[in-house]
Amino acid sequence: MLKPTIYHIALGSNKDDKFKNLQLAVDAIYKDIGNITLISQVYKSPAFGFKSDDFFNCCLVLESYLEAQKVLETLLEIENSLGRTRTKNNTYEARTIDLDIVFAEGNIINTKRLQVPHPEMSKRKFVLLPLNDVASKIKHPKFNKEVSMLLEECKDDSVLEPIKIWLKNPSKQHDFSKYNYIAIEGNIGAGKTSLATKISHDFNAKLILERFADNPFLPKFYEDANRYAFTLEMSFLADRYQQISDDLSQLDLFKDFIVSDYDVFKSMIFSKITLNEDEFSLYRKLFYLMYKDIAKPELYVYLYQNTERLQKNIKKRGRDYEQNIADDYLEKINTGYLDFLKTQKDFNVKIIDVSDRDFVVNRADYLWVLEEICA
Ligand code: ATP
Ligand code: CA
Ligand code: CA
Repeated sequence: MLKPTIYHIALGSNKDDKFKNLQLAVDAIYKDIGNITLISQVYKSPAFGFKSDDFFNCCLVLESYLEAQKVLETLLEIENSLGRTRTKNNTYEARTIDLDIVFAEGNIINTKRLQVPHPEMSKRKFVLLPLNDVASKIKHPKFNKEVSMLLEECKDDSVLEPIKIWLKNPSKQHDFSKYNYIAIEGNIGAGKTSLATKISHDFNAKLILERFADNPFLPKFYEDANRYAFTLEMSFLADRYQQISDDLSQLDLFKDFIVSDYDVFKSMIFSKITLNEDEFSLYRKLFYLMYKDIAKPELYVYLYQNTERLQKNIKKRGRDYEQNIADDYLEKINTGYLDFLKTQKDFNVKIIDVSDRDFVVNRADYLWVLEEICA
């Protein structure tokens, strides 16, 4: 999967309610650009290079799938929406909000509209001091020096004072803390793995992914379903059982919860469709022997996509052996899931219709899904 770029952003305000301006900017950055992993303290600093009211400054670390030019464009839009006005003459002036890109990982950018690392950052204590809170060990890609060193060497002798109010990370509005274990389920191609992976990354969860790629029977099954169905379902069951019991018993001290891209009950849903009656009744016996020992998810999320959309996703990811899946098969699986969920009493279930959403590409859709999960 695509990896986000890590940006360091410097924020400043010296007009109106400065703290509120910073918080509104942080909220907008989270909403429109990406996940915020760290936010520095807020510092009060004297206006630098021009006579004006004191500034409130801070820095944050941001992970975004947008490229740097697009991040800049969005930052400028956020500035506008928060009431920043610019006059034509090129002088510094009081501003409700100023948002600058300090670093874009190790990248050096030198276009007319954008210079990264920000060319003035090493001369400015109001950038370096908050930046040092969140990135002391990050190296300036041109100077090849860590932020802590740049701060030490900085000649700016202005006096900055930390204020004792902290900005809030908007990701906190999505509260996963009530769950220890969330399973993301859905039909073939519904986006289970993408969503589970994103959540685990953004919210510090341990990720459990189904190891279908290692299953040698899967491609064979798609070629000759009758012959390989039972073997396939048995090998999936054994693997899921082992993985879930291993991974759930090793609760990671450094992770806040567990998220998986499957739940073991899918073995029953699929085998009911793929096996004949005799095989299925044998399979069911074995399944329940194992199932009673397995920890159930506290929240079960079912991502619903209509069949047309599933087929599009399957085409797009292009696994050879999946390319001839019939609509009818997908519909049976969906019905199997919904029948199971209707009667389910052991855990919380959330069915989320994502047919018209793209939470991989579109951040607004991703945040919408998070809200549905946490609601
Ligand atoms: P300074 O750049 O000295 O901090 P400023 O922030 O007050 O000054 P603005 O009027 O906010 O300047 O920005 C002027 C232009 O700077 C922006 O429209 C943008 O195109 C350009 N720019 C270049 N590099 C960056 C960067 N790394 N981050 C933000 N803006 C940048
Ligand atoms: Ca600036
Ligand atoms: Ca600026």
